[in-house]
Amino acid sequence: MRYERMTVGRFIERPNRFIAYVEIAGQRETVHVKNTGRCKELLIPGAEVFVQRADNPERKTQWDLIGVKKGKRMINMDSQVTNKVVREWIEEGNLFTGVTLIRNEVTYKGSRFDLYVECGERKIFIEIKGVTLEDEGAVRFPDAPSERAVKHVRELAEAVKEGYEAYVFFVIQMADVCYFTPYTDMQPAFSEALKAAKAKGVHLLAYECNVGIDRIRITKEVPVILHSPVLYEMTGSLMEWYREHRRKLPWREQVSAYHTWVSEIMLQQTRVEAVKPFYARFLKALPTVKDLAEVNEDKLLKLWEGLGYYNRVRNMQKAAIQIMEDHNGQFPHSYEEIRKLKGIGDYTAGAISSIAFGIPKPAVDGNVLRVVSRILNSDADIMKASVRSEIAAAIEEVIPPGAAGDFNQALIELGAIVCVPGQVPKCSQCPAEKICCARQEGREQELPVKSKAKARKIEKRTIFLIKDGENLAIRKRPGKGLLAGLYEFPNIPGYLNMEETAAYSKQIGLMPLRIKELPPAKHIFSHIEWHMKGYAILVDELEKSCKEEDMLFIAPDEIEKRYPIPSAFEAYTLHAEIKLGQGKYK
Ligand code: SF4
Repeated sequence: MRYERMTVGRFIERPNRFIAYVEIAGQRETVHVKNTGRCKELLIPGAEVFVQRADNPERKTQWDLIGVKKGKRMINMDSQVTNKVVREWIEEGNLFTGVTLIRNEVTYKGSRFDLYVECGERKIFIEIKGVTLEDEGAVRFPDAPSERAVKHVRELAEAVKEGYEAYVFFVIQMADVCYFTPYTDMQPAFSEALKAAKAKGVHLLAYECNVGIDRIRITKEVPVILHSPVLYEMTGSLMEWYREHRRKLPWREQVSAYHTWVSEIMLQQTRVEAVKPFYARFLKALPTVKDLAEVNEDKLLKLWEGLGYYNRVRNMQKAAIQIMEDHNGQFPHSYEEIRKLKGIGDYTAGAISSIAFGIPKPAVDGNVLRVVSRILNSDADIMKASVRSEIAAAIEEVIPPGAAGDFNQALIELGAIVCVPGQVPKCSQCPAEKICCARQEGREQELPVKSKAKARKIEKRTIFLIKDGENLAIRKRPGKGLLAGLYEFPNIPGYLNMEETAAYSKQIGLMPLRIKELPPAKHIFSHIEWHMKGYAILVDELEKSCKEEDMLFIAPDEIEKRYPIPSAFEAYTLHAEIKLGQGKYK
């Protein structure tokens, strides 16, 4: 788009929205301002401005104000040109292919949208907003509250529901900007309307322009940051920090979806150092998805013994079977398909798809929630699903192109080794220190806000280590529920004393020769705590007289090798000289 009859002037003042006084060739001239916005930061006395002489000598005001220079930057501030610029650009073949119709100013319900485009069957509304407000490379809209703009955005979302495509197109009337973001402090409702519209399928685009005294032309797309400009601004330094400080971890060496999956599931609830030997053994025993799908349950649970939360590995096996049956043994390549696998939630799906396949999806775990809450100085409760989704959305839009896996891992790593929980974060080593809002306010240790989980239920239990000269009694737990399918020492709810224990032993057909009380123990599950009393009962002979059909009588070294015992019983396995989990390899 080109302007004719242009000249340069010097801004003097703007007495009202419609006119300004400009010095042109030594004369004070009245100039029509083609922008009803405030433009306060642009129109300052002495600023160099670009004006166009009217082609009609009868017109009352002979000049139009088209642009202004702000520092080295040329800014076009002609509100009437943006529709033309976008239309011209689309007509050149940009954005859509096979355009069959373009119309200006088309009414839909209570709104009149700037452009209506058809490409065969596709019917598209486009609302265009000119952007002139800039601060250190960030551009914002609106520079004054506009109810009309909010209404337009909401009605675009309505149009999507009825089968139209819809776009909000921000024309940034200048070059070399970093990103676009709605001016939330100026009008929160516009910002919220954009977020809601995006969630409903409205496309939000921002393009910068090449601007000269006599021209304006769309050049390149810039990111639209709806949620958090602060997070966007830290991506560069975070990535640099990660490349320099990332820990060398086995699952980062040979990256594959299977390896990432195994490591991520193990790392839930377990520290990195503790996971390493389990990870190595698991992959050695089950190197492929197929091996995992086919392994027998006892062997699988034995490989997991010591990691706890056994449902994780049971679900992994179910997901492996899904992969074998529904995906021909190939790990699915899309976030949505990965998310459908048994036991894979938003976090794990985000981690696998970004790390193994480079898909720009966020992976938000506790580390990331903490880091982001602190950087944004947010008091929102991270236990709430709505807060987690908001943080995930904020991260998703700042993932650097082509670096999704590294970016997610960088945020997690920062939380794991610098912005640590429960102790003083190492802010002086943090790449976000300069922009971290909690750090600036001295609130880093107050955050994140995390409402207390429901108190755990306390269950009293009595555990029996029943042995004869050789063997120990164990039994398999039911296939469903807590510690499903694992092996345990016989136990019952409540506390028994010595006499009651002797009576219990006789009741199950085992004559006690000697009973010894063992120290009490406690085990914490996510929702329950077991407070345990224990007795070692020496009996004459286990096998012959026991009335309990599900009881097994196995030598301790055999139990250690083949029978997965949950760590809830670890305090008592020690008395039976059985080592569990990692302990048996030491
Ligand atoms: S500056 Fe401190 S509080 Fe802020 S993100 Fe970094 S380590 Fe965490």
